[in-house]
Amino acid sequence: MFDRQGRLWVGTFGGGLALMTGRDADGKARFRHFGVAQGMPHANVCSLQMDGEGVIWAGTDDGLARIDPQTLEIRAVRRADGSALVDYFVGASAATSAGEALFGSKGGLTVVRPGTLPAWRFAAPVVITDLRVGGQPYPVGRLRQDAPLVLTPETDSLAVEFAALDYTSPGRNLYAYQLEGYESGWVKADVTRRLALYSNLPPGNYTLRLRGSNRDGLWTERELALPLRVTPAWYQRLWVRLLATGLLVLAVVVVVRWRTRYLRRRQAELEHQIADRTADLRAANDRLLHLATTDPLTACANRRHFMERAQDMVALANRHGTPLTLAILDLDDFKRVNDTHGHPGGDAVLAAAGRMIASHVRGTDLVGRIGGEEFALVMPHTAAQGARLLADRVRQAIGDNCVPIEGGGAIRITASLGLAELRHGEGLDDLYARADAALYRAKEAGRNRVEMIQSAG
Ligand code: GH3
Ligand code: MG
Ligand code: MG
Repeated sequence: MFDRQGRLWVGTFGGGLALMTGRDADGKARFRHFGVAQGMPHANVCSLQMDGEGVIWAGTDDGLARIDPQTLEIRAVRRADGSALVDYFVGASAATSAGEALFGSKGGLTVVRPGTLPAWRFAAPVVITDLRVGGQPYPVGRLRQDAPLVLTPETDSLAVEFAALDYTSPGRNLYAYQLEGYESGWVKADVTRRLALYSNLPPGNYTLRLRGSNRDGLWTERELALPLRVTPAWYQRLWVRLLATGLLVLAVVVVVRWRTRYLRRRQAELEHQIADRTADLRAANDRLLHLATTDPLTACANRRHFMERAQDMVALANRHGTPLTLAILDLDDFKRVNDTHGHPGGDAVLAAAGRMIASHVRGTDLVGRIGGEEFALVMPHTAAQGARLLADRVRQAIGDNCVPIEGGGAIRITASLGLAELRHGEGLDDLYARADAALYRAKEAGRNRVEMIQSAG
């Protein structure tokens, strides 16, 4: 059939309706198809006819179809629209001079008068057809507009099946629902599954809105509203949550405190250990230093240490111009002690001599054992006069004291001393040589005496 614009319409048996839209590069005809999905009542088109207004009509195996030539909108026309016949014959159609389209069918003849098909304005009421709360059926009659349906933690699922009561072409009705307070938009529902399903809703108040349309997509103005309240489980209550939060905070505080205390204790332990080790090390160091600087037999400074310190003291006296006197002490006839009392006896005498010297000097004086039975004494801030007095006291003390020996008896011994007072600018070696010379003189003069070489030279 050609319409008023000269376009070719083709009715097919099984493929619905087709409109030729042009030809492609190879000259092959192109068609736009209108099937059941596009609104055709059936895929079998039995005949095509145009009414006086240019509207295209198609008789199918399941009623008439009205096709708007401008918008290409298709509307199925059935019993509800005043067309009771459905099963049209192939090719059994005609147009009258009055602009009517005629379609022959098993049951009679359909006469289409142009412009007389009314729009479908029926507002289909929306009703709940089935309601389940917590999986169990809930009588719809018990629902109240002013009292919400309550979902408890034990019955926290809701299934609402609903329908729009337009039975004229129920498959074309539209459905949507929205849970206000939970969803922000409408959810479309399939016509075969008009079901709103919810579970595990957070506690609170909601309104479930249900809407439906008639077969022409006209939504019913008054939606169905179902007030809903979901009550909280015990653990969802505010005070339980506050309590749980409080307990958690408390637990964190306790753990942090405990850990802090543990770390502090650990730190204190470590500090203690370090302090112990440090003290041990210091003691060991002191001991080493003592061993390195002290003569074990007499507890005086050993030769090396004595020389080092004596050097410093001489340098200091030179710098400040203060007096300083050096004494060298040698025990007299010591070989005889060794020969008579043996080496241990000699050692006992040496130790006693060391003690004797140390007990007569001042804290600032330096005593050292510089040879076998030879001692030296540095007296800072001491001029020849005072040094001589001190040296004589030491000589006397040694000579007056007997050294007791193992197995009974005692040894008497004397000492000779040589003294030299520092000449300004003089080094230790020269000073030492002079003191040694003085000692030699004392020995020469008969021992057990103090000799001195005057600083004046
Ligand atoms: P003088 O009056 O001339 O000094 O006579 P002396 O016998 O003391 O002579 P000298 O100074 O030459 O002798 C020192 C002796 O001291 C020699 C050595 O056997 C002894 N001697 C050296 N060191 C030690 C020691 O550590 N212990 C002991 N028991 N004897 C030592
Ligand atoms: Mg000697
Ligand atoms: Mg001697």
